[in-house]
Amino acid sequence: MKDCIFCKIINNEIPSEKVYEDENILAFEDINPKAPVHILLIPKLHFASLNEIPEDKKGLIGDLLLAAKKIAAQKKIDKKGYRIVLNTGKESGQEVSHVHFHLLGGRRMTWPPG
Ligand code: 5GP
Ligand code: ZN
Repeated sequence: MKDCIFCKIINNEIPSEKVYEDENILAFEDINPKAPVHILLIPKLHFASLNEIPEDKKGLIGDLLLAAKKIAAQKKIDKKGYRIVLNTGKESGQEVSHVHFHLLGGRRMTWPPG
């Protein structure tokens, strides 16, 4: 999608610090990290949010979560614990309209989230 920041990152039009890539998925460091580990995981196909992911692409969601699990192990936060966040829509605080999971860890998380 032409004006999407994350599509530009996928196409290397905007630089990013990549931590994982395969045919369908990209993971990279968040530019404004909210925890010592803060990775964004995105599908290479553009969907504005979870609401736009169709049934026939549901495998992508599992692929993204399993990639997050692998990255958590690489970053050595798998045993201590980590949080995966999927903001959807205005009230959630979603700012970038390309569906993405946040993988957060390396510090104690609070609950409930703000
Ligand atoms: P949201 O609020 O939509 O769930 O999260 C968007 C995230 O994307 C934020 O954590 C923000 O720091 C991150 N972000 C926004 N623009 C860029 C960028 O150009 N590069 C990277 N690496 N992260 C970005
Ligand atoms: Zn996009």
